[in-house]
Amino acid sequence: MTENLSTEILEKKEWFDRNFEDINQRIAKACEKVGKRTEDIIMLAATKTVPVEVINHAIKSGVNYIGENRVQEFLSKKRDLLPSVHRHFIGHLQTNKVKDIIDEVEMIQSVHSVKLATEINRLCGLKGKTMDILLEVNIGKEESKSGFLPEELAENISEIAKLPYVKIKGLMSIPPICENAENSRQYFEKLHKLFIDIGAKIKDNVSMVYLSMGMSGDFVEAIECGANIVRIGTSLFGQRDYSKIK
Ligand SMILES: *Cc1c(COP(=O)(O)O)cnc(C)c1O
Repeated sequence: MTENLSTEILEKKEWFDRNFEDINQRIAKACEKVGKRTEDIIMLAATKTVPVEVINHAIKSGVNYIGENRVQEFLSKKRDLLPSVHRHFIGHLQTNKVKDIIDEVEMIQSVHSVKLATEINRLCGLKGKTMDILLEVNIGKEESKSGFLPEELAENISEIAKLPYVKIKGLMSIPPICENAENSRQYFEKLHKLFIDIGAKIKDNVSMVYLSMGMSGDFVEAIECGANIVRIGTSLFGQRDYSKIK
């Protein structure tokens, strides 16, 4: 191991140890405010660029869910990950990469098109398994982001719900960056409304159980607006260094 990498690992472990408890407490406080139990919230560690030694340290300290963004990076880490952790895919997934992760994760949170869902369904069908998915919503209607537009969601869910080997479990979103977390609430509230309305409208082969929204800067607000999965990276591990990923 190079000296640089071991220094990075040490720094990230220390960062994690300084911040994990505080994050858990903030989650607990947000839960209390809205009358939820902390057990109802999944705190998923967003682990892109984070060395596997640091991820395993986090798992030993009580992190039960991780989310990775890049297929290649995930595959290079997966062998060394502690087996107990739940693994989700949360990044932009290309149709031709589905085959590489279909056996590696228990949920794909970032399903952004009918085409992608169809490919997941096809490959799962060949293997005789099903995949839990969340549908990604482009709630801010940003050009730069993928995901279903809110007004297209119901129609697309009906299509995807016909696929027998994928199970729609809820919605995921990365709202526009807001300087002030308070401003994120408008997006979280819209997402929560979509989540409730669509769950009430479409029932066949759809169970709207997970609403995945909120990251380091705004997970408290997200929980207060109805999130039950929050995806936290920077607050757990410190700033990411993109030059380090393989
Ligand atoms: C990186 C990432 C996160 C975590 O972002 P932070 O601001 O570092 O907490 C959450 N969700 C997705 C999809 C990500 O790519």
